[in-house]
Amino acid sequence: MPYFDREDIEKLSRLKTEPYWVTSLFLATDKSQQTKKQIALNLKNLLTEGKNRLASLKVNREVLTSLEADLEKIGQQINFQLNSFNHPGLALFSSTGKEIFLIYNLPHPPRNRLVFDPNPYLRPMIAILERYHRLCSLVLSRRQARWYQVFMNEALLVEELTSEVPGKVKEGGWEGYESKRIERHIEAHVHDHLKKVSQMTFDLFKKKKFDWLFIGCEEKLFSEFEPLLHTYLKERFKGRIRAKISDSLEKIREETLALEMKLKKQEEEQIVLRFISELEGGGAAVAGLKDTLRQLNNNNLQLLLVSHNFSRSGRICPECRLLFLDENRCSNCQQPTKEVSDIVDETLAVAMVKGCPIKQITPPSKLDRYGKIGAFLRYKT
Ligand SMILES: [Zn+2]
Repeated sequence: MPYFDREDIEKLSRLKTEPYWVTSLFLATDKSQQTKKQIALNLKNLLTEGKNRLASLKVNREVLTSLEADLEKIGQQINFQLNSFNHPGLALFSSTGKEIFLIYNLPHPPRNRLVFDPNPYLRPMIAILERYHRLCSLVLSRRQARWYQVFMNEALLVEELTSEVPGKVKEGGWEGYESKRIERHIEAHVHDHLKKVSQMTFDLFKKKKFDWLFIGCEEKLFSEFEPLLHTYLKERFKGRIRAKISDSLEKIREETLALEMKLKKQEEEQIVLRFISELEGGGAAVAGLKDTLRQLNNNNLQLLLVSHNFSRSGRICPECRLLFLDENRCSNCQQPTKEVSDIVDETLAVAMVKGCPIKQITPPSKLDRYGKIGAFLRYKT
């Protein structure tokens, strides 16, 4: 089962729960990082802290009752299911008044948190989505092809093709001119097969919109196949995996993820280097949280770079939603600002809403020396 995708997030963002609110829970459940006991304790603390917060929440009786029931239900359900969780994290949305209770597995551990809001709190899921590429691994032989979709660590066989290609000429069976003629005949079949594979890959691309295409096949076949790829796909073709048609789904998954990891690392390194050279050359770039926030408030970000899991408290203007590191008054409307527990998360959300692309960088990286956050700017200030 895939974790979740853009459609799930869109569905969640359209969830109608009025007049009730939604309780959103994010919990790291990575058992390789912490014991089951620790996870259960983290949950208990979140719920206790949540209950205290409810006591001072200004909502009507009916909304409050629904939220209280959410906490009760979450406590029961999660503790009950904790043994069977085999994923690094989970996201949960509950609105008891509307009988909504949804759980999603996450491909890497989120920060633990519990949020009460009229709407589901989706930022951590959006941030995860930004991190992953939609991958298509095509594995092919002279007569077969298989297409695998790999997304958020999970692989799925989505399409298969077996063409009618006659077997190779057996040694000693045919000789001379006749043998060559049959060889050519077979090669024509192989070529048709490859053309079909190319067309099917393009059809699949139109349907699934994958970002990167990987190919697994023999060298000789590859040099015949590659020129047949549609121009769009040539742009998306990022490398070859060591895989053959008879390989298991698990093997394809591992090879695909290994290549993705390698490419991602290269991509991140290049972008950080480009950022540093822009910055040190006095170009259109900014580093550090304070200056990045100022440029974000000015709508001047072109591409935001942030070290993954970098977190810090900060302040937000409740009126115009501008973000600050420590200013007590909004520089725009002079209203007192409010403290938020994670200003980096707010930054990601605002950037996303403004349509500014975000690149999360896996630490440790050279970005750490520049305050773990920075941006390319639209214009130099
Ligand atoms: Zn303001």
